[in-house]
Amino acid sequence: MLNADVRTALIDIIGKKRYLDRPEELACYAYDAFLEESLPDAVLFPQTTAEVAAIVRVAATHRLPVTARGAGTSVCGAPVPVHHGLVLCFSKMNRIIEVNTADRYAIVEPGVINADLQRALAPHGFFYPPDPGSINISTIGGNVALNAGGPRCLKYGVTVDYVLGMEVVLASGKVVRFGSRNVKDVTGYKLSALFCGSEGTLGLVTEIILKVVPQPEAVRTVLVTFNDLDDTARAVSSIIGSGIIPVAMELMDKMTVNAIEDAVGLGLPREAEGVLLIEVDGISEACEREMRRIVEKVRECGAVEVKEAATAQERDQLWAARRQTYGVFAKIAPDIISEDVTVPVSKVPEMIRRIREIGKQYQVAIGVLAHAGDGNMHPLIAADRSNKEEWARVLESFGAIFAAGAELGGTLSGEHGIGLAKTPYLPLVMDQDSRDFLKLIKRAVDPDNIFNPGKFV
Ligand SMILES: Cc1cc2nc3c(=O)[nH]c(=O)nc-3n(C[C@H](O)[C@H](O)[C@H](O)COP(=O)(O)OP(=O)(O)OC[C@H]3O[C@@H](n4cnc5c(N)ncnc54)[C@H](O)[C@@H]3O)c2cc1C
Repeated sequence: MLNADVRTALIDIIGKKRYLDRPEELACYAYDAFLEESLPDAVLFPQTTAEVAAIVRVAATHRLPVTARGAGTSVCGAPVPVHHGLVLCFSKMNRIIEVNTADRYAIVEPGVINADLQRALAPHGFFYPPDPGSINISTIGGNVALNAGGPRCLKYGVTVDYVLGMEVVLASGKVVRFGSRNVKDVTGYKLSALFCGSEGTLGLVTEIILKVVPQPEAVRTVLVTFNDLDDTARAVSSIIGSGIIPVAMELMDKMTVNAIEDAVGLGLPREAEGVLLIEVDGISEACEREMRRIVEKVRECGAVEVKEAATAQERDQLWAARRQTYGVFAKIAPDIISEDVTVPVSKVPEMIRRIREIGKQYQVAIGVLAHAGDGNMHPLIAADRSNKEEWARVLESFGAIFAAGAELGGTLSGEHGIGLAKTPYLPLVMDQDSRDFLKLIKRAVDPDNIFNPGKFV
């Protein structure tokens, strides 16, 4: 509960309509898709950078925690206000300020939904590559703060590869700008990159300059079926090892395919032990040649069926199947955890074997879904958090998966971030000196720890 003077000061900045503090309203901003819960004292919806800066100055004076929020689709607990205080929800700062295809950039406010930016770019023949599964709901601000990826990041890279510059409100309330509209800019430290993946712990991003790219001339998509999951995984490393980098190479195991079929019936092969959804793009002739080589490789690895999408509609249907995964797992049990341990692509077959062994050891059914071409695995578990014994096994199994990933030279997160979910496992991939360096940066930028306290730093 905020004291009356602070409440008045905040309402003076933002007005009563964009200030919430009734418990039933606050409850909606207490959690994300990881489902840990902690109530804020108030939720504010700024509309301008000046309002954000003024709110931060009040928070700094009273040492109030400030947690930024986009759409709350994080799956690692990143926007959960564990130390209470203020939640600043950016959903009303959602203007696309400029699209400039001649100079290949777009300038957006942080609350712009990723898919809205894609819709604004499409008539110009351009797109913005990072495409998280949450593309229709998550915000660019959240994507930046979690350095989001998605299926086509195999070829195109993740958010940080597209952030040219940004405007940030610091803990002092000062407004600073990093980077520029230039696709080439090496003027000093690349500070906008520091804010990618910072999970709202360093400052509040109020404007972002993004690099955009022309749409490819052609796109080819195939669905490949295997009778053996090991073969499926071998095909992934075989394709990448041969020098072809598809736009996307998504792997689904039998459990995942059947969960999708049970829920939405899109005609995926239920009997398959493993399925790959592979897409290439570029000049038509190059796509044709790459697809021919991909088909050769998957057949060498034991593919039993290769089905190409003949129309844009068929292609959309295949992707719709892939994008349904979280939703369909949520139909199996009340809680789902989707992890994103990442390993070098040559270790994908071994990592999949380990995930299956861990599932057996802890008696939990783990679905395997992966942006497999870049080694980014999303083991998925549907379980019931209220069953304490089962939940303990689920958490232990994930600890074992992170340890296995680290042992194979992998890392804790390929795109979902650290948040609350993975902070305890950070020592698996970062030694003490390296973790101390994170703290040094945090202390220098936010000495009173007002921004998103209680997270990975
Ligand atoms: C169905 C589903 C599919 C998903 N698929 C993918 C996927 O394919 N790839 C992927 O990478 N992720 C995926 N995610 C995870 C999630 O959607 C992404 O992490 C997304 O980037 C979060 O955006 P958001 O707007 O919801 O941010 P939130 O969840 O609201 O916030 C995320 C973090 O960003 C910080 N933040 C938000 N706005 C700002 C700001 N303006 N300034 C500073 N910090 C800020 C918050 O404090 C928090 O730490 C998926 C989630 C779901 C539910």
